[in-house]
Amino acid sequence: MTGRSLILGGGPAGAAAAITLARAGAAPLLVERAAAPAEKVCGEFLGADAAALLAGLGLDLAALGAVPIRSAQFGAGRHRSRMPLPFAAWSLPRLTLDAALLARAEEAGAELHCGAAALVAEAGPRGWRLRLADGATPEGAQLVLATGKHEMRGLARPAAGGSLGVKLALHGVEMGEAIALLACPGGYAGLQPRAGGGANLCLALAPGTPGLAQAARDPAALLAHVAAASDLAAELLRAARPAWPRPLTVAGVPYGYLHRAAGGPGGLFRVGDQAAVVPSLCGDGIAMALASGQRAAEAIRAGAGAEAFHAAWASSVRPGMRLAGLADGLMARTPQALVRLAGAWPGLAGWAARGTRMGLA
Ligand SMILES: Cc1cc2nc3c(=O)[nH]c(=O)nc-3n(C[C@H](O)[C@H](O)[C@H](O)COP(=O)(O)OP(=O)(O)OC[C@H]3O[C@@H](n4cnc5c(N)ncnc54)[C@H](O)[C@@H]3O)c2cc1C
Repeated sequence: MTGRSLILGGGPAGAAAAITLARAGAAPLLVERAAAPAEKVCGEFLGADAAALLAGLGLDLAALGAVPIRSAQFGAGRHRSRMPLPFAAWSLPRLTLDAALLARAEEAGAELHCGAAALVAEAGPRGWRLRLADGATPEGAQLVLATGKHEMRGLARPAAGGSLGVKLALHGVEMGEAIALLACPGGYAGLQPRAGGGANLCLALAPGTPGLAQAARDPAALLAHVAAASDLAAELLRAARPAWPRPLTVAGVPYGYLHRAAGGPGGLFRVGDQAAVVPSLCGDGIAMALASGQRAAEAIRAGAGAEAFHAAWASSVRPGMRLAGLADGLMARTPQALVRLAGAWPGLAGWAARGTRMGLA
């Protein structure tokens, strides 16, 4: 086995690990199944932590065309409220973000192997060997598992159930510099401006929600599902036209999942959604992916074991994940009360929004 690190997955977590290792002169190999960056189910909200981490990795959000987000609107039934965001935030399509991160990794000296999925990952006495769909069998001393929402056979997260994530790009929606959180049957939708025009509609919905199957494949049914649930949604979506023929979906998103530090094969560093999945309401998943990728790379360079890395990671995100889970549950169970509360006490809502930040930068 070679002493280099293998990184499996080229989303924010894998790219952050690759950039950090490459900058330290370690020349990792990053394997990504997509030949070119693709759309991903994501609200595309970047908070202050994500922005700071991206700047540290060499990305300039303004230069990439990100739209600043300055306020948040909430809608549930006939109730609505609005508050200024108590921290800086941006919106940037994942297509642009993921492409820029991978380009940065390559510039820094990482080797990219794109367009071939890993079919098998095997641990041996001295490291890891991958078997890729194109027949390649790269080897490495450590495996950074950054496959996000997708499981690697034999290394799957022990999570059951999970939410359905749905995303649809829209024309004809003007959001200015605001996001909207809109309660709807089975969960909530986030609507935010999309760099280049239009808006991004993204939902997290509980499995078994009536009408879910149709909403997940039919843009008109999806828009109706959201618009019927609040006056604010109906107003914002009045002139909406789907930019895609079908919504993009991902099933079984295990919100609240946190990898247990103990056990597992040696030299396996789980990062991003493979390490922890925060409820999407707080919009910090990308920051967590970037920070965990970076910290795993630092742990590898320092010769620290995977268990120590996972234990440190879990203790740094556990409090924020608990708060985010609480806010998510309130939005799902009592959205109207939450919207009224945000309207009556914007200071309290701002405190809660700050409190659910992970503080990772
Ligand atoms: C509905 C929803 C809304 C969200 N909204 C937001 C938001 O607004 N803001 C935010 O910060 N976060 C949000 N998130 C969370 C965010 O999308 C994730 O936390 C983040 O993408 C995790 O990054 P990652 O690098 O771990 O995984 P991913 O971004 O999923 O990347 C994983 C990569 O691995 C590759 N891969 C997978 N399997 C293989 C294989 N076998 N071989 C090779 N390559 C493979 C994939 O192609 C992919 O490129 C949202 C999530 C959901 C579900």
